Amino acid sequence: MAGVKHAKTLDAIATVPRHAFMDAGLHPQAYEDSALPIGHQQTISKPSVVARMIELLHKSKQPLNKVLEIGTGCGYQAAVLSLLADEVYSIERIRPLHDLARDNLRPFRIKNLRLIYGDGILGLPQAAPFDSIILAAAGLGIPDALLDQLAIGGRLVAPVARNAKEQQLLLIERVSSHRYQRTALDDVFFVPLQSGVV
Ligand code: SAH
Repeated sequence: MAGVKHAKTLDAIATVPRHAFMDAGLHPQAYEDSALPIGHQQTISKPSVVARMIELLHKSKQPLNKVLEIGTGCGYQAAVLSLLADEVYSIERIRPLHDLARDNLRPFRIKNLRLIYGDGILGLPQAAPFDSIILAAAGLGIPDALLDQLAIGGRLVAPVARNAKEQQLLLIERVSSHRYQRTALDDVFFVPLQSGVV
């Protein structure tokens, strides 16, 4: 899995059946390492990138506490996160995808995952602060609300657009209430972060 070493993350990826989050017609491709369509011009993320981002959320060998995901999509990454964290909150702005994720996740009976229909750019103030925040869509920067809702000592991982064609993965650690440390990492390709709900 492209350089990912964190054993628990790799175990979680190996445990979640990715085909259960895709249309039957795409099942033959479910275990290929590629992003694939889920409708509404959105995609299920590439497993190696999901693994890489989740590995980056981990500071040490400790499990993740409270995680916020922006961009539920079909619910695949949320299912992976639920195996690694105490509590997961996942927000989706497209109603039919929020409903699709709910249907896809139902058979797994996951107790520590909450799905929210809303605009993730605003975060989820009622459940903040979060120890980890992960964005599955690329904006031009990191929304201020998400930086505010990150716990001190917490980590945020997000793709950010550098221009119309290039995106980079950013790791942001909140060092103190006013200090954030940014590290730019791999080149990636994600669907755009958009505002408002539809
Ligand atoms: N996490 C998914 C990836 C879905 S693609 C997986 O496991 O494969 C990214 C998703 O982000 C899309 O469904 C898109 O609708 C959603 N998205 C984009 N902007 C958003 C926003 N502001 N708030 C919530 N979701 C958003």
